[in-house]
Amino acid sequence: MKKLYSPKVVKDIIDFYNFRFSKSLGQNFLVDKNFVEKIVERADVKDSNVLEIGPGIGTITYEMAKSAKKVVAIEIDSSLLPIIEENMEEFENFKLIHEDILKADLEKIVSEEFNGEEFSVVSNLPYYITTPIIEKLVTSKLPCRDMTIMVQKEVADRMLATEKDKEYSSLSVFVKYYSDAKKVTNVPKSVFMPQPKIDSTVLKLSLRKYTDQVDEKALFDLIHAGFNKRRKTILNSLADAVEKDKLRLAFEKLGIKDNLRAENLSLDDFINLTKTIKTL
Ligand code: SAM
Repeated sequence: MKKLYSPKVVKDIIDFYNFRFSKSLGQNFLVDKNFVEKIVERADVKDSNVLEIGPGIGTITYEMAKSAKKVVAIEIDSSLLPIIEENMEEFENFKLIHEDILKADLEKIVSEEFNGEEFSVVSNLPYYITTPIIEKLVTSKLPCRDMTIMVQKEVADRMLATEKDKEYSSLSVFVKYYSDAKKVTNVPKSVFMPQPKIDSTVLKLSLRKYTDQVDEKALFDLIHAGFNKRRKTILNSLADAVEKDKLRLAFEKLGIKDNLRAENLSLDDFINLTKTIKTL
């Protein structure tokens, strides 16, 4: 049994391969048994297909492969490939793909590697592309069941925020639309090598599509218009997406005061507004 979460083991591997951490690729490796175990336990991947983004040296990958049906890891950094291959050599249910996750043809990967079956995403995400990765995955038509992801704590706070919180933003509404998001744990910066400047949070997003029929483009145009000018009243901020006359009529029909700010509106309010505007 390897102990890839051990700081000493990681240091020895890094030295042996003469590996250089890349700040621009967001390389902060997790070196703590408890947090690795917590992520794997909450990801709940026994007998499941797993897509891991950025396996690093394979720390979380190794623990998941013990019980998962199959683990497919996508890593951009070619200097990590021999390290991961060696660390994962005992597993037949493991496949490494050398690609940039943002450019990867995920439909093809899911069809070829998972036979098009349901899968879970697990990742200590490279922070510089956290939101584009989440957007790519949740807006795809892929059979993704859930995502257990480590993100910067401030980003997690924004994702989990509701109308009452100061962190409430278009990202909060976006995440709520596509998932039921739960906090798994906060993670101190001390458990990474090298240590980042900020703390992290692990979240589990259970994906769902809002069952209501709503024009998603119109919905997100409205949400972005609202939060782009969040200090303005919704009558003025949403006017960037919809004519004021229609807005006034929709507010009246829904009993929404036009002097509110976007941060006072819930996801349901935005959905109802989008639908009502469509009927005008
Ligand atoms: N999973 C490892 C761990 O927890 O120790 C490493 C996590 S580290 C925060 C992020 C990983 O994502 C690194 O291995 C990095 O090389 C990889 N990565 C960065 N950008 C990527 C991209 N565009 N596509 C795929 N992998 C990427």
